[in-house]
Amino acid sequence: MEDTYFLMKIKDASIYIKRDDLLPFSFGGNKLRIVTKAFEDMERRGCDEFISYGSESSNLNRVAAHMARSRGVACTVIFKKGRGAHEPYNELLVKESGARIVYCEGSEVRAAVEEELRRSVRDGHRPYYIYGDSNGRGNEACLVEAYVEAYEEIRDFEAKSGISFSHIFLASGTGITQSGLMAASILHGDDKKICGISVARSRDRGREAIRENMSSYMRDGRKTEVKVPAASEIFFDDRFVKGGYGCADQELSELCRQMMKGYGLPLDTTYTGKAFLGMRNIIEEEHIKGSVLFIHTGGLPGVFDAARDIMLS
Ligand SMILES: *Cc1c(COP(=O)(O)O)cnc(C)c1O
Repeated sequence: MEDTYFLMKIKDASIYIKRDDLLPFSFGGNKLRIVTKAFEDMERRGCDEFISYGSESSNLNRVAAHMARSRGVACTVIFKKGRGAHEPYNELLVKESGARIVYCEGSEVRAAVEEELRRSVRDGHRPYYIYGDSNGRGNEACLVEAYVEAYEEIRDFEAKSGISFSHIFLASGTGITQSGLMAASILHGDDKKICGISVARSRDRGREAIRENMSSYMRDGRKTEVKVPAASEIFFDDRFVKGGYGCADQELSELCRQMMKGYGLPLDTTYTGKAFLGMRNIIEEEHIKGSVLFIHTGGLPGVFDAARDIMLS
């Protein structure tokens, strides 16, 4: 079996799926590609403590903790304090990994990152914060590269199969993944529509972040002659957020349940479920025909969080 394959028809569109959730380390996902890039960068810079930040159900923190542990690198993960009734499986996995854990409120992230950077130096380390500075900026180009590279796999699939995707759908949070796909598509002169379905952010905030990510990437690679699309040209649909990060409703839970039962496809309600729901609606609204690619960006531990909530409710 291939990692990219035909999944189902939705109206006149043939949906193919790229299973990045099955990448072979720590439940895979887009964060595995992104964290792998960051570890390479950390080594290049001669740093020796990895610092990560994410929500309580963060896939990033999980992959970072596992990669650090497996390479014998010191690791601190900063969690935004959760409000959920249950401890997410990702948080349990991080605890189990032995990483140092710090909790903070969403409004105190910068202070928490600065404190950890100072503490790390006091401990005799050279810290590396995945997002760059304590405002979460400066490392965009390194992280975006992960999906510039992944885009080549999509092109390889197209070349081998003779199938050409008009649209690529994916769950979009910080927009790093979408920025990489868009940057690669532009650099190749392809006219694919890269369609981000927001998991939390408003359309304006999402579009602006993606524009900035792409600009940083082009600047870093000295490709300043490449025109980055205006915010209004960036596809970032916030109609399927369901009230905010981690929020879900009956429609979304039911879709995840049906996809698991009917297609053996695990989707969580925080990321990939929202993206799939958005894709389904947009294909129907816009009468999209032909071949469409859905990127499964991972988050498998969250599938079990959702199952616990859905099936016990
Ligand atoms: C983080 C994450 C996303 C969003 O990726 P960004 O690059 O932040 O936009 C999508 N899906 C899953 C499963 C994730 O963990």
